Amino acid sequence: MIIEGMAIVNEGCTACGACVDLCPVEAISLDLDEIPTDETDEYCDVWVWLETRDNRLEGVGLELLGIGRELADIKQEKLVGILLGSKLEGLAEKAISHGADRVWCITDPALEHYENGAYTAALTELINQEKPAIVLLGATPDGRDLAPRVAARLQTGLTADCTGLAIELETGNLLQTRPAFGGNIMATIITPHHRPQMATVRPQIMKARPADAARTGEILDYPFESGAWALTRILSQEDTQKQVNLEQADIIVAGGRGADGPEGLQLLQELATTLGGTLAVSRAPVEEGWIAPDYQVGQTGKTVAPRLYIACGISGTIQHLVGIQGADIVVAINRDPKAPIFQAADYGLVGDLFEIVPLLITKIRKIQKQRHQ
Ligand SMILES: Cc1cc2nc3c(=O)[nH]c(=O)nc-3n(C[C@H](O)[C@H](O)[C@H](O)COP(=O)(O)OP(=O)(O)OC[C@H]3O[C@@H](n4cnc5c(N)ncnc54)[C@H](O)[C@@H]3O)c2cc1C
Repeated sequence: MIIEGMAIVNEGCTACGACVDLCPVEAISLDLDEIPTDETDEYCDVWVWLETRDNRLEGVGLELLGIGRELADIKQEKLVGILLGSKLEGLAEKAISHGADRVWCITDPALEHYENGAYTAALTELINQEKPAIVLLGATPDGRDLAPRVAARLQTGLTADCTGLAIELETGNLLQTRPAFGGNIMATIITPHHRPQMATVRPQIMKARPADAARTGEILDYPFESGAWALTRILSQEDTQKQVNLEQADIIVAGGRGADGPEGLQLLQELATTLGGTLAVSRAPVEEGWIAPDYQVGQTGKTVAPRLYIACGISGTIQHLVGIQGADIVVAINRDPKAPIFQAADYGLVGDLFEIVPLLITKIRKIQKQRHQ
């Protein structure tokens, strides 16, 4: 910031370097620990952290192998999966069938559950030894905890919640696209002077490749004493609330502010139950306190990919729409014919949801009854 004509560096400085270019008398310089462009070539291969839970691969890891395969093919490099855990039998083979060329396994009892001290130390050491060009992690609660810790230790950049990843052909840099300024623009971010280039991607954004049992690859063990780095010891884990599994739902009936309160959401729940689906909401009902945040779809909620998404009383702002890009069929019910949701919908019903939804429930039940006769 400028005070009385003098440039002052305060705690708000992010070392972006904008002041260096702007200074009219070229009085400011910035010494950053950058990797010279010719040395970035030493870093190669695309890595994916394969998150596990209860000794099973989480779906987001397989989705990242899907986009990772595309990036590695463009760069003509290897796609490498990273597995950390206590029992990893069969997981590396599964990752190879979904596109990995090589899988590094770090097996240690201290890695049974995600623990940030042990996981950060293990992943950082492996990256420092092997020097990958790109490291992708799922933007899950654990991935969001792990990625910035590793990036800070490696002094490299991290782009969170990417919705698109590509390779800039001239430079080989990773183009990391994500919503910015409250979702009103899409920003494409590059990390030209630091390696590895790190990004997180939310579940359901990328598509996993189908498993190919004929694929072969290399499985390597990396010995690492993770226990010494653990900051906490997890004795047991239990779910304290019923999980809302929107990400895996096939049919979703979603309500917005137009549902007008918990009773309106109850009506939409009835439609969801009739269709064998799940209830979800836009951010408005969460902000109004009608329902728990677990049900929210969108930029700051969950990303969903159902076969059928019925949006009731939702206006269709970009922050909501980014969460339903993967839906096969979108049906919108809204009393405002100009509501933007209709631009994103395959079928639109203009009218009051409190009239339309009960009619739909009655009609669907009638059809279901006829089918069972
Ligand atoms: C950084 C940031 C992140 C955000 N993240 C998210 C997110 O993750 N998810 C999200 O959803 N939003 C998010 N938002 C908020 C978003 O911008 C909108 O405010 C929100 O999606 C609006 O919710 P809505 O469509 O339910 O309500 P409104 O925009 O108020 O729309 C209500 C709609 O209901 C219709 N309606 C009213 N009554 C009826 C009726 N009886 N029958 C039929 N139609 C009716 C109206 O015509 C209107 O179109 C975010 C915003 C920011 C800035």
